[in-house]
Amino acid sequence: MSVLQIIDRPSPNFDARTRPIDLVVLHYTGMQNAEIALARLTDDTPTAGEFPGPWQRPDVLKDAPLPRVSAHYVVDEAGAVYRLVPEEHRAWHAGAASWEGEGDVNSRAVGIEIVNGGHDFGLPDFPDEQVASVIELTRQILKRWDLKPHRVVAHSDIAPERKSDPGEKFPWKRLADAGVSIWPKALVHADIADSDPVIRAQERLAKLGYAVKATGSLDPQTRYVVMAFQRRFRPSSITGQIDDETQAILAALSLQMPRY
Ligand SMILES: [Zn+2]
Repeated sequence: MSVLQIIDRPSPNFDARTRPIDLVVLHYTGMQNAEIALARLTDDTPTAGEFPGPWQRPDVLKDAPLPRVSAHYVVDEAGAVYRLVPEEHRAWHAGAASWEGEGDVNSRAVGIEIVNGGHDFGLPDFPDEQVASVIELTRQILKRWDLKPHRVVAHSDIAPERKSDPGEKFPWKRLADAGVSIWPKALVHADIADSDPVIRAQERLAKLGYAVKATGSLDPQTRYVVMAFQRRFRPSSITGQIDDETQAILAALSLQMPRY
């Protein structure tokens, strides 16, 4: 068990929660480096010119305002933990999102930004020291708020059409092995082929918390959610298709979910 090195780097970007904490949301920063990400997450008047990158049009006006954002914590590549917003306050990291049918995820979540360039910068690996700190920090948060491992989610889980972080290279199984996330134990294959695999998948995904309507068809909203699910639990193949292995992982996780 590692001892966390916590560095206070207060952000002015927060407001009051409207409900108790019951989720931890993991992100990657998706920016060039830790210092730039910390500057963005603590800036109360960010502009496009201050934060150039592949996410904006080259002809964007330099003084165009950007939304104010923050997180409770930032974990850098060496495993140092920056505390930006006290957990008691509502940080601004989830954006438009939904989990278990509720939209204001920021009110109920502790947000952790993991320094990593992400998809815009070639999906770098997450160093072991960094993963160890994410695990220890998450373990402490779950303990502090009396939360179970299934309360830890990806930004891509709660905003599947907009977000893909922390990305398919994030080692979720290591978190699960450390008791701070879920992972399918034994895959559960159906005895006979499901006559309606799409509706079954939609029901199971919704039960896990994903925002997906039970339409019975593999429509765009379903494909985005299936991709988010695969990005997290079957990262070797992110297709948006409900194949046999995806069904078996989904069935396994549904059985593992605590009743509450
Ligand atoms: Zn994010």
